[in-house]
Amino acid sequence: MVLEGLGVDRNDPHFKDSPERIAKAWTEELCVGMKTETFNVTTFPMTKDDQPGMIILQHIPVKSLCAHHLLPFIGEATVAYIPNELLCGLSKLSRIVDFFARKPQVQEHLTSDIASYLKKTLKPQGVGVIIKASHMCMEMRGVNHNGLMTTSALSGIFLKDGTSRAEFMALAHAQGSHV
Ligand SMILES: [Zn+2]
Repeated sequence: MVLEGLGVDRNDPHFKDSPERIAKAWTEELCVGMKTETFNVTTFPMTKDDQPGMIILQHIPVKSLCAHHLLPFIGEATVAYIPNELLCGLSKLSRIVDFFARKPQVQEHLTSDIASYLKKTLKPQGVGVIIKASHMCMEMRGVNHNGLMTTSALSGIFLKDGTSRAEFMALAHAQGSHV
């Protein structure tokens, strides 16, 4: 319908199979986060030797679509938690971000969805999520300039304890960002 509305030549060999190709890309890849409601993460109980310090993963790729224009927003997430009794594998933090990213939404909701999921699953002392992303709906249209949108979601000890929050923020905004 979009192609028809734009008036492209549907007999052009490059457009001929586009509707099927687009439908497949959107349902099977770009919005695959809408299909599965539950996402299971294996957790491990902490042992006596584990230190309950901050666990942080930076430079997690974020590739999502904005709810308002269905255009991509692309950037990076920093996810941290201070465990209570449960730990999860570090790569799982990346998988959680990728899972929640794959649907149309606003960046604020993506950020809080990731934080809520970790809060529910790991019941940690605190969770912190920061996402920095460039929005194509701003860069390719509208004001047409580049800009980085930053959103954050903090809970538990990250809200109550200034030192933990400062440590998280310093790491999240440290040099070496790939954005
Ligand atoms: Zn938008």
